[in-house]
Amino acid sequence: MEIDVSKLCASGKCEGEVRFGYNPPEDCCLIPLCGIEGAVNVNCDYFICDDGKVEVRMTVDYLLSGQCSYCLKDARRHITYTADLLYDVRGHGGGEEDDRYYYDGRKINLKTAVDDTILISQPNVLLCKDGCEGIDVTNK
Ligand SMILES: [Zn+2]
Repeated sequence: MEIDVSKLCASGKCEGEVRFGYNPPEDCCLIPLCGIEGAVNVNCDYFICDDGKVEVRMTVDYLLSGQCSYCLKDARRHITYTADLLYDVRGHGGGEEDDRYYYDGRKINLKTAVDDTILISQPNVLLCKDGCEGIDVTNK
């Protein structure tokens, strides 16, 4: 899951697309009793600017499954999320903390951004259905 910027520049290609499947680490799901089922599909469109900055539009696509956060029944939900990212060459800029990523000017490793995007894309809860009202305490 790398973008070989120097090689692409050398061959005159300043934009393109990379796709790959990613097996996320166990702890990348923040919702209790839930996890990511199978691999995460990652799709990145990139554009390399003249000054070495690289714009990446990253889309992650995966299946969340586990127990409903309200009623504990089985629940699954398909998540698709797109994030616009900016990679700058390390050493450029004033070192201000911001939300961009840095790389060495040659190759971008997308792993950190993929992990971040998976975390950002998650809902706070996983529900078995819209409007789940929780455990039925009347016990009919
Ligand atoms: Zn439920």
